[in-house]
Amino acid sequence: MEISSRLPGVSTTIFTTMSALAAEFHAVNLGQGFPDFPMNDELIRLVHQAMKDGFNQYAPMAGYLPLREAIAEKIFNLYKNPVHPETEITITPGGTYAIYSAITSLIREGDEVIVPEPAYDSYIPNIEINGGVAVTIPLRFPDYKIDWRAVKNAISPKTKAIILNSPHNPTGSILKNEDIEELRTLVRDSSIFIISDEVYEHLIFDDLPHLSMLRFPDLYQRSFVCFSFGKVYNCTGWKLGYCVAPPKLTAEFRKVHQFNCFSCFTPAQVALSIFLKNKDAYLQLSALMQEKRDFFIRIMKDTRFRLLPSYGSYFICSSYDNISDEDDKTFAIRMTKEAGVASIPLSAFYRSGKDDKMIRFCFCKKEETLLKAAERLIKM
Ligand code: PMP
Ligand code: GLN
Repeated sequence: MEISSRLPGVSTTIFTTMSALAAEFHAVNLGQGFPDFPMNDELIRLVHQAMKDGFNQYAPMAGYLPLREAIAEKIFNLYKNPVHPETEITITPGGTYAIYSAITSLIREGDEVIVPEPAYDSYIPNIEINGGVAVTIPLRFPDYKIDWRAVKNAISPKTKAIILNSPHNPTGSILKNEDIEELRTLVRDSSIFIISDEVYEHLIFDDLPHLSMLRFPDLYQRSFVCFSFGKVYNCTGWKLGYCVAPPKLTAEFRKVHQFNCFSCFTPAQVALSIFLKNKDAYLQLSALMQEKRDFFIRIMKDTRFRLLPSYGSYFICSSYDNISDEDDKTFAIRMTKEAGVASIPLSAFYRSGKDDKMIRFCFCKKEETLLKAAERLIKM
């Protein structure tokens, strides 16, 4: 039987490919973004306890209410937005799913979505599978700031939404106040929605504030804001997150969600509803990850890689122009095989495969892992 592909241009993701290559060549894996240190023991204990306490049946479709209440409280404390747990928060199986469901709620055949690139690899396929058209605009190289004039030029009568991601994967750039002002001016009199990927909300460095769409009532009223517990609690394998959106948007989001996943793993939701009360656990995360960023920058000084700044996320980008003039994919593959360190070529984050000869390193690793990688990279 033949099947006509809904995503003919799509193959296996770069994260899967590079992790498989890293395993095959016993390379240090600084490619796919996941911590290699243990998650919090207490949170594990709470999940176990929830199972023993009998929380093993379906959670409500929108999520376990005490968890949504704890999230609402956290959002109010951090962003002063009184979102309602009943009507504005939906628990999802991860951030990627939240983004997919937001896009599916919004996008119909021919709708255009503005996507600044480089961009997380799921956005464009999510748009296209819904019959939408991704209108890409390049982030300014090498600081990867949004070129708001390019955004303005990309807007057409068909523009339905813009996707924002701060802190940004893969570049570690973040939205600043001036970006928020530009965004406000652009969307003020329009019917453009915002899909805001904020999974790295608690991974922002140098005491910079996270400018969540939740802080700005005029922007929030048109936003789906997506989060991931995997990133907050160093448990990317849990695949649990949430989407926050105003009631009318949430109602549409839940129409998609209820026939796709219906509800998420109950014991983890119960555990998180208790653990989320511990503010330190998420507020300390930026400092921990900043230490890792700074450690990695220090130990990479003796190599020929030239690291760009990173202000947030798990990631830092690097030029290898002192080492090779190969394209980034060829270089990343050779580096995995020959030097034993895996990374992600940045061209994978561009639909066109644009090659700035940059690779992305993931630094959310144990010091010994980062040291082992740097010792190997010195030989490049
Ligand atoms: N957005 C970005 C930018 C990410 O890097 C990730 C990490 N995978 C996600 C969304 C999705 O998170 P999750 O694993 O919870 O689906
Ligand atoms: N977000 C992770 C990264 O950018 C990977 C997630 C995945 O493998 N899909 O590395």
